Amino acid sequence: MSGTSPAAVVAALRAELGPGRADVVVGDPAVMEGYRHDRATSVVPGAPSAVVRARVAADVQAAVRVAARLRVPVVPRGLGTGLSGGAAAVDGCIVVSTAAMRDLRVDPAAMLAVCGPGIRNTELKDAAAAHGLWYPPDPSSFEICSIGGNLATNAGGLCCVKYGVTTDYVLALEVVLADGRAVRLGGPTVKDVAGYDLKRLFVGSEGTLGIITGATLRLRPAPPPVSTVVALFPTLRSAGHAVADIVTRVRPAALELMDRAALDAVERVRPMGLDPSTAALVLARTDGAGAEAAAITDACERAGASYVAHTDDADEGELLMGARRMAIPCVERLGTVLIEDVGVPLPRIPELLAAVERIAAEHDTFIPVIGHAGDGNFHPLVTFDASDPDATRRSATAFDGIMEAAVALGGTVSGEHGIGVLKARHLPAQLGPDVMDLHRRIKTALDPQGILNPGKWI
Ligand SMILES: Cc1cc2nc3c(=O)[nH]c(=O)nc-3n(C[C@H](O)[C@H](O)[C@H](O)COP(=O)(O)OP(=O)(O)OC[C@H]3O[C@@H](n4cnc5c(N)ncnc54)[C@H](O)[C@@H]3O)c2cc1C
Repeated sequence: MSGTSPAAVVAALRAELGPGRADVVVGDPAVMEGYRHDRATSVVPGAPSAVVRARVAADVQAAVRVAARLRVPVVPRGLGTGLSGGAAAVDGCIVVSTAAMRDLRVDPAAMLAVCGPGIRNTELKDAAAAHGLWYPPDPSSFEICSIGGNLATNAGGLCCVKYGVTTDYVLALEVVLADGRAVRLGGPTVKDVAGYDLKRLFVGSEGTLGIITGATLRLRPAPPPVSTVVALFPTLRSAGHAVADIVTRVRPAALELMDRAALDAVERVRPMGLDPSTAALVLARTDGAGAEAAAITDACERAGASYVAHTDDADEGELLMGARRMAIPCVERLGTVLIEDVGVPLPRIPELLAAVERIAAEHDTFIPVIGHAGDGNFHPLVTFDASDPDATRRSATAFDGIMEAAVALGGTVSGEHGIGVLKARHLPAQLGPDVMDLHRRIKTALDPQGILNPGKWI
């Protein structure tokens, strides 16, 4: 890419944005520091030349036009909660932050919301709820992540086992392309098969094909009341068997798993007084009839649960789900964490959990496990002391081993967090050479200069 100096990039951006827009561009290294990292702390980011804090799509277009002219990289950024290094800055880049693009309008008659990418997931949920409606996708980070980031990673979450992931709610996207043009893909109609379904190409593309500047998202009627089932297991494998059985019987609205180490990490912050012989906890939420809670209870008991209870109290259920959502930050207090995001076909869940236990023992590495178990999507949290070179090396090997195990089980290296930098070298093993080639041809067609989020997985 170009050797244009940071000062020249800042000057070009200010000139392109025009009078009265100078404050949109940041060139101060101290301020830019806050735009270099995401939550993948093991990824070492580069130093940006400038940050553009876009407020409208025209700001994004101006930034991309400058980047295309000067051939400097562009790193799109939401709220930096990504766990794969996707928003990590690269040297000399322009970081385009869409956090300040915060238009939001709910159309209850059409059951949709139109919003800017900077709206937080929780704000969209609240706005929908004010009209008696619901935006289901619920990453555990829903209070701190943006809709733009959710779209760019095709974020999942707890209720996705029944209600689908981000892409299932996308009717239309506004996108700025690599040459600075703005396009609208899709529209407000529920059904629309005119042309290729290009909006879905951009969902999950992690900022490598274009910058999302607006979205039209489907809403659902408010969800029915929920029951929550909590079950404790003497082994991780038996919990895995319970999950594999539950999903063949009912469609829970959430089905989560935490192993002992993850429970201990949460217990340090929010004591729950769990029986020390517990090896794993399964948390299921159902919004179906009472028979669903009974079927889940039965499946847990048959798999060997040592304790099963269920509550119809929404607040009590939310407390339990809240403990599950706290797991990643609680484990992060214990060391540097390489966060896996592997997924396997549902019947192979017990094998994946056994493989993680084996890999942790083989490499003498601490790997608490949590997961959206009902989707077969798990987050083994490879945790280590980064000041210890040997532990760092063993952890990296364990991290690789878990992704290899998932792919060998017919699974994926990423169920929801995206590839970013962390999983880039494992993608070819999953996709194979022909599909990787197809990805590269699409990338080249849309971004011939390779300026959009380079140095990541494509
Ligand atoms: C505690 C914790 C729990 C989490 N739980 C979940 C979970 O349950 N499910 C889940 O899916 N994720 C989860 N995540 C990961 C993260 O919150 C999601 O990936 C989220 O979608 C990222 O949103 P963001 O606004 O922070 O995006 P960022 O981190 O800023 O960016 C993420 C990616 O999207 C790109 N991007 C951002 N905005 C745009 C845009 N406007 N146009 C184009 N590209 C863009 C970036 O370049 C980057 O590649 C969790 C994270 C944390 C810290």
